[in-house]
Amino acid sequence: MERVLLLKFGELFLKGKNRHEFLKLLMENISKKLHNFQFKLTETQGRLVISDYDESLEDEMIEKIQKVFGLIDVMPATEIETSLDNIENQIKELDLKDFNTFKIETKRADKKFPMSSMELSAHLGSVILDNCPWLKVDLYEPEVVVNVEVRLNGKTYIYNKLIPCAGGLPLGSAGKGLLLLSGGIDSPVAGYLMAKRGLRIEAIHFHSYPYTSVQAKEKVIALANQISQYCGEIKLHIISFTEIQEQIHKNCDPEYMITIMRRIMMRIAEKICRENGLGAIITGECLGQVASQTMQSMTVTNAVVSLPVFRPVLAFDKEEIMDLAKKIGTYETSILPYEDCCTVFLPKNPVIKPTIARAEHNEKFLDVDALVKQAVACEEILNIKSY
Ligand code: ATP
Ligand code: MG
Repeated sequence: MERVLLLKFGELFLKGKNRHEFLKLLMENISKKLHNFQFKLTETQGRLVISDYDESLEDEMIEKIQKVFGLIDVMPATEIETSLDNIENQIKELDLKDFNTFKIETKRADKKFPMSSMELSAHLGSVILDNCPWLKVDLYEPEVVVNVEVRLNGKTYIYNKLIPCAGGLPLGSAGKGLLLLSGGIDSPVAGYLMAKRGLRIEAIHFHSYPYTSVQAKEKVIALANQISQYCGEIKLHIISFTEIQEQIHKNCDPEYMITIMRRIMMRIAEKICRENGLGAIITGECLGQVASQTMQSMTVTNAVVSLPVFRPVLAFDKEEIMDLAKKIGTYETSILPYEDCCTVFLPKNPVIKPTIARAEHNEKFLDVDALVKQAVACEEILNIKSY
């Protein structure tokens, strides 16, 4: 008899070579996440099993496992050699005193086992009823489900608790993207959501020191640290935007200031993507949230890049984004009051429906290529790792 952690992953779409890659990545990501612990990780027919670990550290391990994308549930379980005696004995050991109703769910992959799933469920049900006379069977809404999995490897797993994990796809299974990370609420959530779909993330932050403070930059580093718990190691590119903003302020129509800033941010982001093998740009934009987040604004900013721009919170309400920010632990940092470079020199009336023609006209008064090149040449890089 051994205490193990059973891990359930989404399998529906897994076929052929895909499945192998998916599992390999998932297992690597779990191992990285648990690098501070001793344990063994194996696969058995659609389940991963963590064994040989220090039980006193189980809660800590589970907390980490819950943040690995690609996993659906983690189940603390007892592993026993398959035999009816062993299963009965183990069932009698379960602590069910907090429950009034139960149900047994049996999965029997090992067809050599002499009882069918139904028979085994019924038999074990009566064992529990004998042993815990206060319990009743409820097949529809039981307070506790006792799961019995008779696997092909000669082992049976018994558990009655499923702890939800982050879901999604393993980090790295969908390629790599660059997150435009501001100090706000939306962009960390956007990064989390794309990482959840399997994108490995690098991040880029624009600051306008000394117009923006050192604390504003530190806040962004703190946010990168927080999402790194889910997104793994994050290379954070920090770019000075001061010179660019001064030039725009001096030379462009104030109405178009934000539009031009956004277009230059996009160009810099694309250059960094090309240099670092990243295939998409991610932003925390949300349709209609502010003047610079209209369909027309997005058309004008998209026009300067050829990589796809992912905006996973585009259709979310602010409350929905805030709820997610609270769930992933970024909210409290995001609401700290430091300014963002977008709020420096903020025009009174930013254009709501910009056009590409007028944006291009405004950019004639700037040496855009030189500004982009200069900004990237002076980038500061931090490797953020928090697991
Ligand atoms: P957020 O809460 O993410 O800051 P927001 O609602 O404040 O978003 P904006 O300030 O208009 O919206 O920014 C829209 C998006 O542009 C952000 O979600 C982010 O992806 C990107 N962005 C804005 N400012 C910066 C910055 N200083 N550095 C990097 N990306 C930025
Ligand atoms: Mg912002």
